Amino acid sequence: MTTLHDKFGRQITDLRISITDRCNFRCVYCRSADPENYRDHDEILSWPELDRLARVFMSLGIRKIRITGGEPLVRDGVEDYIARLHALGVEDLSMTTNGQLLAERCDRLIAAGLRRINISLDSLDAGKFERITRTKSFSTVMHSIDAAQKSRLAPAKVNAVLVRGINDDEVEAFASYARASGVIMRFIEFMPLDADRHWTRGLVVPAAEIHQRIQARWPLTQIPHERSETARKYRFADGAPGEIGLIAPVTQPFCGHCSRIRLTADGKLRTCLFSKDDHDLRSLLREGASDEDLSTYICSVVMEKEEGHRINEPGFVQPSRTMVFIGG
Ligand code: SAM
Ligand code: SF4
Repeated sequence: MTTLHDKFGRQITDLRISITDRCNFRCVYCRSADPENYRDHDEILSWPELDRLARVFMSLGIRKIRITGGEPLVRDGVEDYIARLHALGVEDLSMTTNGQLLAERCDRLIAAGLRRINISLDSLDAGKFERITRTKSFSTVMHSIDAAQKSRLAPAKVNAVLVRGINDDEVEAFASYARASGVIMRFIEFMPLDADRHWTRGLVVPAAEIHQRIQARWPLTQIPHERSETARKYRFADGAPGEIGLIAPVTQPFCGHCSRIRLTADGKLRTCLFSKDDHDLRSLLREGASDEDLSTYICSVVMEKEEGHRINEPGFVQPSRTMVFIGG
């Protein structure tokens, strides 16, 4: 079988598929200033187009697929798509969601074959949650996390993006929540992918600081991780439930072991979150390309995958596409 490699010798086995650029939240670090400038429906890949690309990617050695967006649960038909991916034999099938529409969908998602879920939660304080997401969905999201924890999706991964001066005072509260609920609490460094273009280095809360603050209160023991995993993982040394994950793309980049590519909702292949260009699979599909043409094109694009992002280099330019359009 052909496998996907880049010129730096990295094997690409993970694909993030954004199934929509639409979202029912407006998180400050993601799309708060975006106008409602969604792509027209015909610009978004149809389910049959997504099915076909998934098959082609799997024939190239993709084993891990994460469904994301925008907010994936706002698009009708997600469960059916997951069922088809499951039937194709995806080894590791997961989804990232803001949780607003999750609680009542857990059973159907599990029946379709979903086994892992990441839920975003940026504050444990209802008022602050509302200011960050610009919604009144705090209790709904907490309820969804509880529902996921009671289901086969447990333990849920709960993702918080910390922004200095907004929610960095909640590190210990989140750790305490992990201990009480048993979730895997993951802290993600704020990246320069926000629509407002407000990102500055000063707003990033370094993973090392988060580690030190939790460690001071509840000693942590590192859990071994695979080389390509983005999170450094820890359990509580006193045996309490829950886990901590630290994802440090800014202060400790993991590009050297990156095994990931992304497909945007409008059918563009991105080889890095911070790519300056993306590559148009939708046109190829719609112009009648064969599976072989698609495979050849994907292999050639992946070969040129960037060595790494350049956030920490002088002259770094924030990509024109923001997180909601790329698919986190
Ligand atoms: N809407 C879903 C959600 O929020 O979970 C899925 C899409 S969202 C773009 C995927 C992930 O990207 C979320 O965990 C979100 O917190 C994260 N994210 C968005 N903007 C970010 C930024 N500027 N820096 C770091 N993470 C970001
Ligand atoms: Fe929507 Fe997720 Fe972006 Fe928040 S982080 S605005 S929920 S896509």
